[in-house]
Amino acid sequence: MLNNQSFKEEALKLVNWMTQYLEEVEHYPVLSNVKPGEIASEIPDTYPEEAEKFQKLFLDFEEKIMPGLTHWESPNFFAYFPASKSKASILAEMLTATLGVQGMVWATSPAATELEDKLMIWMQQLLGLPQAWSGSIQDTASNGTLNALLTAREKATNYQINQNGFREQPVFRIYCSEQAHSSIDKNVKIAGFGINNLVKIEVDESFALIPEKLEEAIKSDIEAGYQPLFVMNALGTTGSTAVDPLEKVGAICQKYNLWLHVDAAYSGAALIIPEFRWMSKGIEKADSFVFNPHKWLFTNFDCSLYYVKDKQALINTFSITPEYLKTENDDIVNNYRDWHIQLGRRFRSLKLWFVIRSFGAKKLRTIIQQHCDWALWLKQQIDEHNDFEMLAPVSVNLVCFRFNNRKISEEALNSFNEKLLKNINEAGKIYMTHTKLNGKYTIRWVGGHPELTKTHVEKAWQIVLDHACKLN
Ligand SMILES: *Cc1c(COP(=O)(O)O)cnc(C)c1O
Repeated sequence: MLNNQSFKEEALKLVNWMTQYLEEVEHYPVLSNVKPGEIASEIPDTYPEEAEKFQKLFLDFEEKIMPGLTHWESPNFFAYFPASKSKASILAEMLTATLGVQGMVWATSPAATELEDKLMIWMQQLLGLPQAWSGSIQDTASNGTLNALLTAREKATNYQINQNGFREQPVFRIYCSEQAHSSIDKNVKIAGFGINNLVKIEVDESFALIPEKLEEAIKSDIEAGYQPLFVMNALGTTGSTAVDPLEKVGAICQKYNLWLHVDAAYSGAALIIPEFRWMSKGIEKADSFVFNPHKWLFTNFDCSLYYVKDKQALINTFSITPEYLKTENDDIVNNYRDWHIQLGRRFRSLKLWFVIRSFGAKKLRTIIQQHCDWALWLKQQIDEHNDFEMLAPVSVNLVCFRFNNRKISEEALNSFNEKLLKNINEAGKIYMTHTKLNGKYTIRWVGGHPELTKTHVEKAWQIVLDHACKLN
């Protein structure tokens, strides 16, 4: 066990280690190349009965754990979506861990609740969201979307499913595009709707939902005796950051009185720049909105913002406070345990506060804009190159492309690009992932690290060219 003195000594050493890691991480192989089971074989099959020295523990971390890590913090990480953090955010996490505050209700740490209240307002302003909305910080977008489904369900049934279960209720239908994030599938199951009642709407050539197809589906469901309930509009899909036409989808939701949920988990970060607000045009029609600062707003995982138009419906859905336990304060403070599923909640507003203040909105906008500009630069290289092609429009900082020398079949192209990506990743200099768009194996490049430079982007493109040349 560490005492105060040894805690201090180890903590200082750790800070040195952290600083050195952040300085050196871009030279590490981005992707860990261990085999399945390799790390587990290094860890004893049972726990220690006696205390072990911290130094020994830390040595094991360095020797046994580090080799099995993928370096998400490397600026050469261009895979998935970033889980980008920043130095201010890391420091805030250290404080959060030290304080161990539980912010489940106002009284358990008034500052945790009140800072969160303010941060939700700051973010509303920063993202250009309707001022009348309310919200709280949650762990993930998946859970925000689950909250939206549950609240929509309860509001539509006058809270009857919470009370009596699904007996004698209509069969509800949920809609999203074919490109929507898989969390909607999971959530539809969890919320009790049944996966067969999730209707996936066809997308256009830019992979955005086709509103006419949505309306057709709603109409034919009504004719068949179903009850349309909920539409999820993607503001940046995971596959290609496609943007569903919010304004049109919103009009359809109003016409049929459906709950409109906006999934801006990733691309929401770009809304801090007014020029990107074409993506959120019509946002005032939404009933709920989710965005993850833990992806592209330099805030450590986890930090997901969930906003609703009808705060009372949200609280009615989740509140379990019996009338006799309500206090005077409840009318004037937020008790966030009633705003989502779990009771315990981390003090997440602190890191977001640190991030926004240490960068300032202006710098945040500059960085996000640069990432988008560099994505366009990369797109231009691809457009100008005979052997490469773009496979989706660039809306923010994700570039979907593939090698295509126009000499081989689609099938051969798929396996070529798969092999190309494998070779690039195994070499360890950069890391990218893939998706399939229209059956085409698609390489995804996404640059969202706060300290990314144009040089990193140029190097990445050169690496792609070199590997393609070698493989061709
Ligand atoms: C990442 C992502 C999610 C899920 O986010 P979590 O916070 O990991 O649950 C949902 N929707 C979109 C569009 C995403 O990109």
